[in-house]
Amino acid sequence: MEAECPICGSPVELPDDVMAGELLECPSCGATLEVYEQNGTFLLKEAEEIGEDWGE
Ligand SMILES: [Zn+2]
Repeated sequence: MEAECPICGSPVELPDDVMAGELLECPSCGATLEVYEQNGTFLLKEAEEIGEDWGE
């Protein structure tokens, strides 16, 4: 199963047991992508920053 990266348009392989809310990294552009489900199909969107970035 594959979904399309919304950033670069490359196909991204989804794990067989993928679940909505899972985070994946696009192998092409390195973007962090969040899996979501729409009408029974898994799609990808750019993940929001998770947690606070307090710096180093
Ligand atoms: Zn990408």
